[in-house]
Amino acid sequence: MSEPARLITPDKRGEDADAPLRPQTLDDFTGQATARANLKVFIEAAKKRGEALDHVLFVGPPGLGKTTLAQIMAKELGVNFRATSGPVIAKAGDLAALLTNLEDRDVLFIDEIHRLSPAVEEILYPAMEDFQLDLIIGEGPAARSVKIDLSRFTLVAATTRLGLLTTPLRDRFGIPVRLDFYTVGELETIVRRGARIMGLAMADDGALEIARRARGTPRIAGRLLRRVRDFADVEKASEVTRRIADEALSRLDVDAIGLDLLDRRYLEMIARNFGGGPVGIETIAAGLSEPRDAIEDIIEPFLIQQGFIQRTPRGRLLTANAWGHLGLTPPQNLSA
Ligand code: ADP
Repeated sequence: MSEPARLITPDKRGEDADAPLRPQTLDDFTGQATARANLKVFIEAAKKRGEALDHVLFVGPPGLGKTTLAQIMAKELGVNFRATSGPVIAKAGDLAALLTNLEDRDVLFIDEIHRLSPAVEEILYPAMEDFQLDLIIGEGPAARSVKIDLSRFTLVAATTRLGLLTTPLRDRFGIPVRLDFYTVGELETIVRRGARIMGLAMADDGALEIARRARGTPRIAGRLLRRVRDFADVEKASEVTRRIADEALSRLDVDAIGLDLLDRRYLEMIARNFGGGPVGIETIAAGLSEPRDAIEDIIEPFLIQQGFIQRTPRGRLLTANAWGHLGLTPPQNLSA
């Protein structure tokens, strides 16, 4: 059984008109105050010295602004921005071609870096450390190794799962930056800014309602905003009020705190079929017909942050909060 496309999925989807809403400068970027303040210092320092910025690793769930920050960094450094992603770089030669085309101090962004193949990772180590490529040309006894000097570039990489990165790769990033889910207040600012860019009149309670239901994620806030605008247009409403936002989002099956059908199926399955757990991730994946990766990357981080589930050595466990949200009675041992 395949799930209909999730409205709240933080995954990038082709139809997303993300571009106009992307902040262009660090000052324009809402939230992640610590990360922003640190980046500002490092960028200033690198610019002052005329050197390439140290390699940066962004870690955090999808849709929190990793790509956006990488683009902003290139812009603030005044250098070129090149982007690719782990699964796209199939062979060592693909990465070599990218690296040899970089100019001094350029930013190379690699999304989903945990999905690089080991052969490609091998090439990346000396490139990051010594700005050199070690390539083997030819095969068998005729094979020889050549070294190629590279420009001094900055690798900005993003991953949703730090745990999947090999230690040697992780160690080569001088600046690790963790991104967290946004507060409702921050998302409210992001929604207001988005509405302004779209030329959409937004009441305060309308912005708050969308922010509350955006799952802590700016990409989802933008997507909900576009759907709410459709409803407002059809209703010929002069501004987006809480009522319009609520009606639109309820019809789209996004609940009061931003959970969608798949989140609720996840929680209900553990509640109804497994008495609240603990239940193993593979069993959950099979039960939902969803890949394990997607469950761990997209569904669970927010449910954990909201205090709905716990990861234990024996599997996932629903908390009293989750039972309450589902409107179900927890088993005796939990309700005590
Ligand atoms: P990631 O790379 O972490 O998956 P992106 O950088 O692609 O996330 O951001 C997803 C969307 O959310 C983009 O359209 C961007 O405009 C928006 N966005 C992300 N962070 C912010 C922010 N702090 N303020 C406003 N919009 C943001």
